[in-house]
Amino acid sequence: MQKEDCIFCKIANSIIPCEFVYETDTLVAFNDINPQAPAHILIVPKDHYEDLNEVSSETLLAQLLLAAKEVAKIKNLQEGYRTIINTGKQSGQEVFHIHVHVLAGKKLGALG
Ligand code: 5GP
Ligand code: ZN
Repeated sequence: MQKEDCIFCKIANSIIPCEFVYETDTLVAFNDINPQAPAHILIVPKDHYEDLNEVSSETLLAQLLLAAKEVAKIKNLQEGYRTIINTGKQSGQEVFHIHVHVLAGKKLGALG
């Protein structure tokens, strides 16, 4: 299901045009508009879930991480990449439609 006023629902379902790095029946991957590393891709399901706490499908959770691996292959991130899921305001989540960040292309700093 999509949510009316959600930017990632609109991008993932091609209501707002966006070039996808990777797409399956259930998710898309596209470049972050404000990259925090030379490669910064977001993996976003086509259905709306506010955050990780709302997702109970083991299949979808697996699909999100398998997509991260696919994106790493497509983008030649063989030197390494970081996957991040922010959950909730204190984590830094700004878009309340679950997404996995894939960051790479430079030595990334410590977390936190
Ligand atoms: P969060 O802080 O919620 O984990 O991450 C949201 C990410 O979405 C941020 O890195 C932000 O730059 C990115 N973002 C927000 N709006 C858009 C948009 O309209 N298009 C794209 N490509 N990225 C967006
Ligand atoms: Zn949404």
